[in-house]
Amino acid sequence: MEHQNRISEFLHVGNKLLSWYKKNARDLPFRQTRDPYKIWICEIVFQQTRISQGLNHYNNFISRFPDVQTLAAADENEVLLYWKGLGYYSRAINIHKAAQQVMDDYHGIFPSEYEEIMKLKGVGKYTAAAISSICFNGKMPAVDGNFYRVLSRLFADDYDISGSGAFAYFSELSKLIMPDNVGDFNQAMMDLGSEICKPKNPLCHSCPVSEDCLAYSLGKVSEFPVKTKKVKTENLQLRYYFVHRNGHFLIQQRKDDFIWKKLFEFPPEIPEEFEKYIVGLQIIGHKLTHKNLCIEIYEVEITSDEAWDSFIAENGYMVTDVEASHEKSFPKPLETYIQKWLRA
Ligand code: SF4
Repeated sequence: MEHQNRISEFLHVGNKLLSWYKKNARDLPFRQTRDPYKIWICEIVFQQTRISQGLNHYNNFISRFPDVQTLAAADENEVLLYWKGLGYYSRAINIHKAAQQVMDDYHGIFPSEYEEIMKLKGVGKYTAAAISSICFNGKMPAVDGNFYRVLSRLFADDYDISGSGAFAYFSELSKLIMPDNVGDFNQAMMDLGSEICKPKNPLCHSCPVSEDCLAYSLGKVSEFPVKTKKVKTENLQLRYYFVHRNGHFLIQQRKDDFIWKKLFEFPPEIPEEFEKYIVGLQIIGHKLTHKNLCIEIYEVEITSDEAWDSFIAENGYMVTDVEASHEKSFPKPLETYIQKWLRA
């Protein structure tokens, strides 16, 4: 890392970022607190969700589960319900388990050390660094995509961000500009990365560190960060049967670890003798991270009580209706299907 030789040149950059952050920090509810529980929830909520999209969900979640005790004692399905609309439901399942870990292993007191925070279910290096630095004056940089982008541009550094060594490399690089107040520095980097040094069309003319940015001075901002590995997208075909009678329909809770774990879904198969009740088919495309789904949903309208009763008895599905289904979390495309069916 040749920058190391020029370390003194960069020490002022972090301080400039802090001054900028003090004046420009976004006024967000979780910025008013150092409660590790709230910071943790906010870090998990906003990991894959934009602030504008997730803010109401965050506020609702915190109103219902204001502390780790309440969350740990809640029913998992209710936690999933409050996660509705945020997607990536495994985050909600992990949050719930981690809250129980805090109760069981830490007597209900959120751990303060980076290594201990890392032991919580679903908490990685980034989240542990963010919580420990913001709430407990920890000194670890919260390195994420924002750090990769800002640092590789600041230093015009072509280290490949898709390589396995990127996290360690950019953690070290960040220390060249990291001031003592690591909590504010981490948040300043998050804000700079999302508001100014954006992936496309960064606002370099408004950037507090543009004078120090090598990529900017070389006119090469668009060349950084360098990413060589493309993640392959998988195409997947799913099939469901929306089996209904008199406003009621059948569902089950997903158990496998594949996708949508613990969410509710329609039956994925029906016995052959019920195929005569199929009255329609809809094909829905849906994108998940690294997965393109093609979902076939066959509408199966059972026209006799006898057939309906025997279907339920033989296949063991749960019976629900639209109103009761609001109390359950479905994958987005299935929820959209139910809403459309209701309006048809
Ligand atoms: S000058 Fe532009 S490229 Fe450099 S850090 Fe600022 S916003 Fe990013």
